Amino acid sequence: EGILLDLLKAEAAEREVRAITYQMRSARFPVHRDLAGFDFAQSHVNESLARSLHRCDFIREAHNVVLIGGPGTGKTHLAVALGVQAITQHRQRVRFFSTVELVNALEQEKAQGKVGQLATRLCHLELVILDELGYLPFSQAGGALLFHLLGKLYERTSVIITTNLSFTEWSSIFIDPKMTTALLDRLTHHCHIVETGNESYRFKHSANQITRGGRS
Ligand code: ADP
Ligand code: MG
Repeated sequence: EGILLDLLKAEAAEREVRAITYQMRSARFPVHRDLAGFDFAQSHVNESLARSLHRCDFIREAHNVVLIGGPGTGKTHLAVALGVQAITQHRQRVRFFSTVELVNALEQEKAQGKVGQLATRLCHLELVILDELGYLPFSQAGGALLFHLLGKLYERTSVIITTNLSFTEWSSIFIDPKMTTALLDRLTHHCHIVETGNESYRFKHSANQITRGGRS
């Protein structure tokens, strides 16, 4: 009886591992990052806010997170860390996109006369990550498609957005000012804003290495 129980436990554990592996692959994270690897002492991020988001309650409530800051300040690191935590600890379904990649996919879908398919699929996930909003411009049509997608996800699927733009600068990428206002109104309704500052971790560390190597 004891052996049988052990076998069942092993079988269940193996199934769990397989499910997590599958979800991690489906999420398409560009890198693997976790909160343990994030050095708060080297960052402007509010640690208690980041740790509370890491508990993933915001996902259960379909709230959103916007990570705002300059390049190299840990926005993608934190977004991925939250996504990984959601999968491994809470069995949630997650998908990571670069914003440009998602807008391209939406435009392609429209060209093929299949508008709404991707949105329907993403509505069945618990978390969608949109990385690098604002780094590259997209067309007015692309902006409108993204706007409609975010409208569909609203209050159903959590969205994490990483961006270098302050909210007042969002109109520069969405072009249509009315659309920008409506989007921000919805997005920020249930939203946690994490500011990562402007001091690049990457830059600081490569600068350190150069100094240590005596090449300064
Ligand atoms: P961003 O998305 O804001 O441009 P990234 O998240 O890609 O920046 O960070 C750049 C690199 O620096 C990544 O390899 C990331 O893991 C690392 N990094 C950034 N901030 C920290 C930090 N506070 N502690 C540890 N690593 C960090
Ligand atoms: Mg990034």
